[in-house]
Amino acid sequence: MQAVKSAKTGLERRLFAMLAGMGLKGWRKNAVDLLGKPDVAFDQQRVAIFVDGCFWHRCPVCKRKLPKTNREYWERKLERNVRLARDANRRLRREGWLVVRCWEHELRNPNGRVGFREGVRSALSERRKHRDAGARKKGRGRVSSPP
Ligand SMILES: [Zn+2]
Repeated sequence: MQAVKSAKTGLERRLFAMLAGMGLKGWRKNAVDLLGKPDVAFDQQRVAIFVDGCFWHRCPVCKRKLPKTNREYWERKLERNVRLARDANRRLRREGWLVVRCWEHELRNPNGRVGFREGVRSALSERRKHRDAGARKKGRGRVSSPP
């Protein structure tokens, strides 16, 4: 358990370093006050980011094997993780959050990291457009010329 926990911490650290490296601001770590406790939350844009461990969330790509002992226990436990994550996605979306989920294996692989960075950027810019559109509708905010 302990070993697995620290592995998750390592992943989070990698995620935080990536976001910092992207020059992004306005995010906070471990948003335990939000549904599902996102690893990162951009509160203003309402973008929540999770990194899912491939074992803990039964990654369909890695297909990590369950421990041989206590199989049933593990099966139930991991299925519960998957279900809770799905539930958190749904509820966050209902509250206006955009949810970005990333697999552990993506963060471990250079191409995966590129894809993840793009995902985060596009989620944030989506939100910016959203907000600009809302501001225009309310008659405030300056309309900038399209790039
Ligand atoms: Zn995986």
